[in-house]
Amino acid sequence: MRKLINIKNVTSTLVLLLIVSSLCLTVQADEGMWPLSEIQKLNLHEKGLRMDPSLIYDPSKQSLLYAVVQLGATGSFISEEGLIITNHHVAFGSVQAASTPEKDYLKNGFLARTRAEEIPAAGQTARITESFEDVSAAVLSVVKKKMSPAERTKAVERKIKELVAAAEKANPGKRAEVAEMFPGKSYWLFLYTNLRDIRLVYVPPLAVGNFGGEDDNWMWPRHTGDFTLMRAYVGPDGKPAEYSPNNVPFRPKTYLKINPSGVKEGDFVFLLGYPGRTYRHLPASYIAYEQNVRMPAVADWYEWQINLMEEMSKTSREVALKHDSRIKGLANTMKNYRGKLAGLQRLNYLAQKQQEEEALKAFIQADPKRQAAYGEILSSLEKIYKEMELGYPRSFVLDNLRRSVILFQNAMTVVEAAHERQKPDLERNAAYMDRNFSRIKQRLPLTMRTSFYLPTDLAIFKELLKKAKALPDNQKIEGLRQLVSSGSNLDEIANDILKKTRMQDLEFINTLWDRKPADLKQIDDSMLKLALTLYPEYLKMEEANRTRKGQLDELQAKLVDIRQEFLGQQFIPDANGTLRLTYGRVEGYEPRDAVFYKPFTTVQGVVEKTTGREPYDTPPALLELINQKEFGRFTNPELKTVSVCMLYSADTTGGNSGSPIINADGELVGVNFDRTWEATINDFTWSHDFSRSIGVDIRYALWILQELGGAGYLLGEMGIK
Ligand code: ASP
Repeated sequence: MRKLINIKNVTSTLVLLLIVSSLCLTVQADEGMWPLSEIQKLNLHEKGLRMDPSLIYDPSKQSLLYAVVQLGATGSFISEEGLIITNHHVAFGSVQAASTPEKDYLKNGFLARTRAEEIPAAGQTARITESFEDVSAAVLSVVKKKMSPAERTKAVERKIKELVAAAEKANPGKRAEVAEMFPGKSYWLFLYTNLRDIRLVYVPPLAVGNFGGEDDNWMWPRHTGDFTLMRAYVGPDGKPAEYSPNNVPFRPKTYLKINPSGVKEGDFVFLLGYPGRTYRHLPASYIAYEQNVRMPAVADWYEWQINLMEEMSKTSREVALKHDSRIKGLANTMKNYRGKLAGLQRLNYLAQKQQEEEALKAFIQADPKRQAAYGEILSSLEKIYKEMELGYPRSFVLDNLRRSVILFQNAMTVVEAAHERQKPDLERNAAYMDRNFSRIKQRLPLTMRTSFYLPTDLAIFKELLKKAKALPDNQKIEGLRQLVSSGSNLDEIANDILKKTRMQDLEFINTLWDRKPADLKQIDDSMLKLALTLYPEYLKMEEANRTRKGQLDELQAKLVDIRQEFLGQQFIPDANGTLRLTYGRVEGYEPRDAVFYKPFTTVQGVVEKTTGREPYDTPPALLELINQKEFGRFTNPELKTVSVCMLYSADTTGGNSGSPIINADGELVGVNFDRTWEATINDFTWSHDFSRSIGVDIRYALWILQELGGAGYLLGEMGIK
């Protein structure tokens, strides 16, 4: 075999191998969002853990695993009566939903003085991971060589649904879910307890919970009290139930003890949480697609929507309340993408990746067997991402019509339900299966109540029609071709469609859920008609996505295999919304030349930043408390004041919001809520040099609760005497 390699190749391969392995070594330090099954391999004691790691995860013990909940992002139980701590920004939507101009909890904060005063967090659920098992063999058993990529995807989807159905049957009351760990390669079945009655207990005023707003988001130094308390309830029989005044607080198997003395610089910490998505195992061609096509387009589009919604919000507080949560979500992603794009440039990351792949290619070419098995994967992947780039403007319009125009979203949901609900349960798109359909029916009215404002819907609709009109001829969306033809007046068309639809009328929509597609065609409703016309386009897009997924699954699985062989490493799966552990130390870093960021901020910084205007409008009562300097047991002894936020070198991403920051003894010392500007690129690559996460120091949260919130009794419930 050796003979086949020429000397020039050997030298360049070696040089590249050296570059790549040195990259990997720096990356190794504390990188990793570890599935809990892997943590015994981590030697956490050597890293600084003092507790028995099996008390973090061991199915036979009351381990910490059961104290962590998925709330969209993450939260954790901090009392035996179901009290949950998470981020203010995680509860933001529910707080908005509970607010009115008269009772503006979002602006002023909220405290339930008794259990009876706790209010439902609309739409919020909390999931606890109960168990997981590797079901890769069962899932992949249905994949046959001769299948087309789309058939492969369908077969896998079908098998997953069967496994989920069987697991839910065998475990009544639990929710099952199969997560793809390595795409195309490994699949785990998770069992969850899904709590459905979640209530708000304490919410700080916006000027504390969101202090610094978007200016400070993804930034350090930070002074945001980004925490909120909620409580989970269950039926009197102890089982998960929808909201009812008769429900009782949920008693978790375990909860986290709080250490009110916090941590100090250099301390070991770990986080448990539900990180959303990372893309560290994907090829350079994917990074190129993200960098050159998708992220810039989405960031610009979100910016356009934010400007629109901010303008609309000037009308009245009532109108602003409809937009607050949407703006927050859009702005969070927009700034994150801008941060990532800056990071990609700063690190010249695409070139790094390409260089790694050159070395990988040389490694593949050096062996005819490898060449036969893996010779085409990188070029095939590149071809797929190029195709996605070409089709992007068209799919952008279709995707965003559904995502951002609420009345069109309603109409499409009705149309899709009519088609999907005709099929046997296991053949439907997951959202329309019996186990999920009620959620659609609940979410639609909630979205209408909390987020729908006709002038905003209309403006977004017009803008997307404009984009559809501008599509090149070979990308035109058939169902819109006539509507947006060259002579058409888009303003008139959009106004007319919105005038002649009843897709904002919930009673009307309720009459449509059980209709057949043919019945819907008889209904004279302009938006419904548009959705029916466009439905085949969405079907085509879905089918194309299935084909692409089938191709990508196979290629990405191979890419992981060969990269592992090449680098001599075992990878851990990218984040995928399942429970992970990550660890690090409380430590600062050097973001750029001659600048060092210390790991703690203090209340003094809150005073310094305060301007009296949003988002730096600290409540006068808080300024007074800070001035009085009576911090008592919440004083950070090194800093002689209360520390507000902290930095640590754990590996986190979106979804880790609300994750408990836990000390070496398994006690909660803070709540994760963000990353620094340089760490926005974590989703692609992590480095000890620049990846830092940001959490609120528990001492600040407790001090706020006690002094500003007047909620000292909750500290008692948390066992803080
Ligand atoms: N602030 C982040 C979020 O919104 C948390 C993170 O991405 O680190 O999800």
